[in-house]
Amino acid sequence: MGKYDKLKKIELHCHLDGSLRIETVSEWTGKQEDKVKELLVSGSKTKDLNDYLKLFELPVSLLQTKSHLKEAAFELCEDLIKDNCIYAEIRFAPILHTSKNLEIDDVIDTVLKGAKRTFLKFNLILCMMRNMSFEDNKKVIDAAKKYLGKGVCAIDLAGSEENYPTSEFKELFEYARKNNVPFTVHAGEAGSHTDIDDAISFGASRIGHGIKAITNFDTMENLKKKNIPLEICLTSNVNTKAVQSYLDHPIKRLIDSGVEITINTDNRTVSDTTLSKEYAKLSKYFGFDTQDFYKSNLISLDHSFLSDLEKKELKEILKENYEKTLP
Ligand SMILES: [Zn+2]
Repeated sequence: MGKYDKLKKIELHCHLDGSLRIETVSEWTGKQEDKVKELLVSGSKTKDLNDYLKLFELPVSLLQTKSHLKEAAFELCEDLIKDNCIYAEIRFAPILHTSKNLEIDDVIDTVLKGAKRTFLKFNLILCMMRNMSFEDNKKVIDAAKKYLGKGVCAIDLAGSEENYPTSEFKELFEYARKNNVPFTVHAGEAGSHTDIDDAISFGASRIGHGIKAITNFDTMENLKKKNIPLEICLTSNVNTKAVQSYLDHPIKRLIDSGVEITINTDNRTVSDTTLSKEYAKLSKYFGFDTQDFYKSNLISLDHSFLSDLEKKELKEILKENYEKTLP
């Protein structure tokens, strides 16, 4: 049992397709668990973000039926509960799951059904994909608008930042804003600080990764001024070589500069991690302690897409749990 297992936690950046159970994929494919691990877990074999993204081809190909989507959502929520997560914003790209015969609404309804079989408090974030057409991404915004407040809380933009810079998505985010659909954006992970600047100018509520902010003073100032936090995913950044090692990660320097950060897994299976494991790594490499994690969870809660009342309720739970851990 790890030191941080019992700490109550909030997860804001977790991809459904990157978080399937190894044994379930083994069952679905008939492949041995060791073989599945080889196919799904990044380990040290990925060279960059584009390479890391290739590991999603198998899980996405398996998540094309209602039964698999439902099971995947159910199991992820169960696993998050085991990690003492009390609220999660789970994301996926609904269009990626329509290559057989499901429609976008079927995909969303099914994931909601699976997740609701557990008692985890959650919301879904629907991802637009950088390599998808304008029309397809627009459908994701329309779906988010339809399901907003009914299990969906926001949209996101994911995929290869190098091949499709954030600036190309201005019109889509304008459309989202016009429709009152809030958003977080993967930016400044493999790309540069200008991707973060663009996401901020479009009206992002949060930035996925955003670690390239460290390379530009004005970007950091802008994040602080606009009260926009980063969704940090430490191990994932090491896997994608966005940073060369854990110790090279700018998380501590960002915090010391006054940028608000939240701690997340990104992909539990592909990055072979959990929130507890991320906390243990932050403790090992940067000396973070329970108080730091309490603070980061309060920031996560504050910037979640929950209502003020819901935030207040969860804040009490975090506080009570934190006080229990004090000597
Ligand atoms: Zn991500």
